[in-house]
Amino acid sequence: MDLTIISTYRCNSKCSMCNIWKYPTDPREEITLQTLSKLPNGFDNLNITGGEPTLRKDLVDICDVLYPKARILEISSNGLHAERLLPIIKKYPNCKVRFSLEGFDVTNNIIRGEEDGFNIKVAGLKMLQEAGGNDLGFGAVIQDDNVKELVDLYKFAINNNFEFATSALHNAFQFHKGDNYPYNRIEVARNVERIIIEMLKTYNIKNWFRAYLNLGLIEKILGHDRLIKCTAGEDFIFIDPWSDVYLCNVRNDLLAGNLLKQSWQEIKESEIYKKKVNDVHACKQNCWMVTTARTAMRSNLHPSLPKIQVLKWVVKNKIKVMTGKDIYFDGYINYQKIHIDSSVKKRESYLHSNVVKRTITKAADQHYSQFKFYDNK
Ligand code: SF4
Repeated sequence: MDLTIISTYRCNSKCSMCNIWKYPTDPREEITLQTLSKLPNGFDNLNITGGEPTLRKDLVDICDVLYPKARILEISSNGLHAERLLPIIKKYPNCKVRFSLEGFDVTNNIIRGEEDGFNIKVAGLKMLQEAGGNDLGFGAVIQDDNVKELVDLYKFAINNNFEFATSALHNAFQFHKGDNYPYNRIEVARNVERIIIEMLKTYNIKNWFRAYLNLGLIEKILGHDRLIKCTAGEDFIFIDPWSDVYLCNVRNDLLAGNLLKQSWQEIKESEIYKKKVNDVHACKQNCWMVTTARTAMRSNLHPSLPKIQVLKWVVKNKIKVMTGKDIYFDGYINYQKIHIDSSVKKRESYLHSNVVKRTITKAADQHYSQFKFYDNK
């Protein structure tokens, strides 16, 4: 099982697709080392994220608690304070680190509300590379405002021996906003095809499977059903800074317990947990985030292997790319069918907006401002 831990909702970026930074947590309320130590051993991928995890003063201690509990310990950061990760990388060179990067220079700064973000992140990741880090990379959220730059950004990353992961603009209860839909779905989707081809051209097996993951992102961008059914709750779980345990990071009605008040075993064996797993089986949302996509792509028989349908697609299209043939994307994706819900507020380009205007507003609820949240179209 994969686990994502939101260590804090404090953040020093001001992203256009996420308003978490407007609703920072009080550090005194954030999940403690004692609570984290209640987690069992044996996770596959354990991701420490935020908000911005480097704002936790005890991040090294958090890693000390969590590193032995997973095959892969991952830190997802905005990369503005790479120096805070240096002691972690020196101690745990295998620790996976991903810096969010939305484009070169201006594009990244505008989308993420950062100053000189690109140069700071690149310098920071190189510093961690020199310190011995061996699983370092960038992660980008595919959206209208950056999609045309992403092939070049991907090439930049692999030329510098960094990994490059993608997700697509999506909504989730913790973002405090619900307009994360592309405004030109077909154009964004067609540009993702270029990224897929580049990924298949490499000799890195991880990238070939990322190509399939990106195929799922095209379906997500067009508002289609998921490529593979979600297994949240069975293969993936999510913990927020108040130690609340959710089956996924999209629907806030999938709350199953609280690790501060309960043991991990009590939560997993509770009736409410079982009921929420059934809710996942019936879920119709078209999300395709790396968390639940990666887990769904794995074989039921052996989690380190892919599902047959995934493997077939990868082998077939890798051969096509290597032999100079085109991938017929329209054979996989129905570009004629695009789901658009008229109730969805059209998202505007942020490229010319003034990030300073992104001011703080008050939360409507104790923790989350969106009581009911759906990401279906
Ligand atoms: S498909 Fe449903 S249960 Fe699964 S991650 Fe998406 S919203 Fe959550």
